[in-house]
Amino acid sequence: MATLCLISEASPQATPKFRALAFYSETVEQDHVDFAHQAIQFFQAAAKRDQFEFETTTNWDDLNVGNLGRYQLVVWLDDFPHTQAQRAAFEQYMEHGGGWLGFHIAAFNNNGTRWPWLVEFLGGAVFYGNEWPPLPATLTVDDKSHPVMKDIPESFMAPANEWYIWKPSPRLDKDVKVLMTLASSNYPIGLKDVLVGGDIPVVWTNTRYRMLYLNMGHGDKIFTTDVQNRLLENALLWVGTSKAAAK
Ligand code: ZN
Repeated sequence: MATLCLISEASPQATPKFRALAFYSETVEQDHVDFAHQAIQFFQAAAKRDQFEFETTTNWDDLNVGNLGRYQLVVWLDDFPHTQAQRAAFEQYMEHGGGWLGFHIAAFNNNGTRWPWLVEFLGGAVFYGNEWPPLPATLTVDDKSHPVMKDIPESFMAPANEWYIWKPSPRLDKDVKVLMTLASSNYPIGLKDVLVGGDIPVVWTNTRYRMLYLNMGHGDKIFTTDVQNRLLENALLWVGTSKAAAK
């Protein structure tokens, strides 16, 4: 009996598939804080289901080379680094096989951001505008065979979100794979700020990196449908377990 007990106690826990560190901020727009809090709850539950580690921080100085080396995946929940040192550490991490999952304003950039590397990283996408207020929208899948689209219907109604426009569109980059697009049936969408047409990628990956961007992330409705929840879980698992891109 004693021997059996020892064996039982010595059984190791399942090794985590990967370690993720999620960055967020408490001092940004309330709708973005709300999303970050809900996302943390959602991904912490997913971490138990799917055997990965999910840690969080509001200290963006944790974006340093020594610390990032402990993680296979960095997640930006509705904010982005604002100092040169944080940005340089992230660039080095991504250029050497790090993984990134970004939501909503994580990919925000314009003339004032002054971070050309990020624009290249995103496949050339520059923030151009958004519709307002946040509204549900029909999304269509561009590539059903992609692992992120596993068990996702070709088209579904996404919960209310503030949808962004990108000019240039990341679709123009030959290494970008757009996985999901705002359906043209949504137009016009918005009341105060209205989108009347155009090609609006919503989820994409730049295949030069282990990265995926999702435009979802505004407000407290994002995690209200099973289909989109599945998509977000697929997204995190895919980047977390993907192999380094060929350079
Ligand atoms: Zn927003």
